[in-house]
Amino acid sequence: MREKCGKFGISCPKPRPEPMTKADIIIVGAGSAGCALANRLSSDPSCKVVLLEAGGTDDRDAIRSPREYFSLWDTDADWQYVSTPQRGTANRSHKMPRGKVLGGTSSLNGMVYLRGAQSDYDGWAAQGCDGWDWESLLPEFAGLETWLKPAVLDPLNELSRALVEAAIEAGFRRSSTFDAGVLDGAGWNKSCIIGGERYNNHRAFIVPIRNRKNLTICSHSTVAKLLMEAKKVTGVVLSGGEEIKAGEVILCTGAFDSPRLLMISGIGPAADLAALGISPQIDLPVGENLTDHLLIGIVYNSQRAISDLNALCTESCAFARSTPTRSDCDIEISFATKPHFAPEAHDDVQRFTIIPGITKPKSRGTVRLTSATPGARLAIDPNYFDHSDDMKAMIAAVRLSRSIGQQKALAEWTTGEWWPGASVETDEKIASYVREGVSTWFHPAGTCRMGLGPDSVVDANLRVYGVESLRIADASIMPEIVGVNTHGASTMIGWKAGGLILGGR
Ligand SMILES: Cc1cc2nc3c(=O)[nH]c(=O)nc-3n(C[C@H](O)[C@H](O)[C@H](O)COP(=O)(O)OP(=O)(O)OC[C@H]3O[C@@H](n4cnc5c(N)ncnc54)[C@H](O)[C@@H]3O)c2cc1C
Repeated sequence: MREKCGKFGISCPKPRPEPMTKADIIIVGAGSAGCALANRLSSDPSCKVVLLEAGGTDDRDAIRSPREYFSLWDTDADWQYVSTPQRGTANRSHKMPRGKVLGGTSSLNGMVYLRGAQSDYDGWAAQGCDGWDWESLLPEFAGLETWLKPAVLDPLNELSRALVEAAIEAGFRRSSTFDAGVLDGAGWNKSCIIGGERYNNHRAFIVPIRNRKNLTICSHSTVAKLLMEAKKVTGVVLSGGEEIKAGEVILCTGAFDSPRLLMISGIGPAADLAALGISPQIDLPVGENLTDHLLIGIVYNSQRAISDLNALCTESCAFARSTPTRSDCDIEISFATKPHFAPEAHDDVQRFTIIPGITKPKSRGTVRLTSATPGARLAIDPNYFDHSDDMKAMIAAVRLSRSIGQQKALAEWTTGEWWPGASVETDEKIASYVREGVSTWFHPAGTCRMGLGPDSVVDANLRVYGVESLRIADASIMPEIVGVNTHGASTMIGWKAGGLILGGR
């Protein structure tokens, strides 16, 4: 039961196309990871896969157009999460958008695609996550990229070229695409845009294979909790009460909703669950280890007209280390041809932004339930700047970014820094501007961490400890957050999960 819908002529599933009662494998969440996983798993015709997604169609202009994703915030395509007030950011609460739509957060993200650093994944393997080292993952990236087809934008905005040249003048190494796992340097990132349109993971991984007979995709299907018999998961319960049985359930619901679904089903910190009246089934550190990247804008006045080409897409970036003794990059500086992440950064003004960010924060936060009712508000506490080294890294990132802004390559473009302005120069003043203006980079991860120790929720095969027939495959399993934007790694996790499961059948 499929229908053709929308002006793009893409076949979209009807809400809940047919009553489902049984599957071999249920995937919950058609986001970055879930779409990649559904594609790979259903490549085996003997595996009956059901993909359940809470949101609806991605057939909307604001999703297709790479320029409009900010307009999706606070709509029905967004879960509309908000953090708790953050002591480290002047008691501000931060909007934490998450896609509630086919494609998940890949339908409203910035479309930047980066694999990550070799050191990110070798670090996971060193913590006991066998098979997750860089060499082992290279074929996984190559496999998923045959579907996702990320590419450097062409043509490039000439201001982006000037920004990369300025970074080279400031001492950064010239990089090509960062694909080789070595980040230090400045260059072009890839994007998930094809023919001028967003290529989200639903479009990349599901639309081309959606007629496979062994794959059923149900949108508008919110999973309320897991069905369990003793310590074995036997299916899911939808928000309307309907049950679907399965041989195995894989949660791909992201860094906030995967811990939610575990905890609401009794899998999580036993004392916290009991306090909410949830009978604890398995005591695990679910919802711990929340890690997120942070960024802030340094906005420059431009004396030249800035082309609208690729506006709102980040075409280029630079990576660096906040201290020379670090073994990996912990700073990512993005370049934007619009004014961003500054007060009154109206994009009709000729301004551009150098965006310093930190990618290896030491602060760790939590995701907690606030009640035993499925769907109730989550308490999301990223605990920004809890660790003092994070502010030091942020200050170093701001100073490095400013050194780029002062180079000759930008002389014909800018008359100087507009925000925060030259008077913000001491560490104290920079720290204060950061606390008042810093934003999440929208990369939450790590809340169902993979590993061997008591701080882990899943093993290296993504199986939840202490429970049969339940895995997690999404950004929540990252033991340490990757040092780049998280969509590429999340997609890889879903893709690799498919290989792990098929290999074990
Ligand atoms: C504004 C913004 C900009 C970003 N820009 C970039 C970028 O440019 N580059 C980059 O690399 N990363 C970017 N990211 C981050 C990146 O998109 C995410 O890290 C990645 O998409 C996470 O993938 P995931 O599979 O873990 O979760 P998601 O893609 O969020 O998938 C989770 C899916 O599960 C569904 N779901 C949740 N709960 C339920 C339930 N109970 N029942 C059924 N379905 C459910 C959701 O609706 C969603 O479809 C950005 C994020 C945001 C918000």
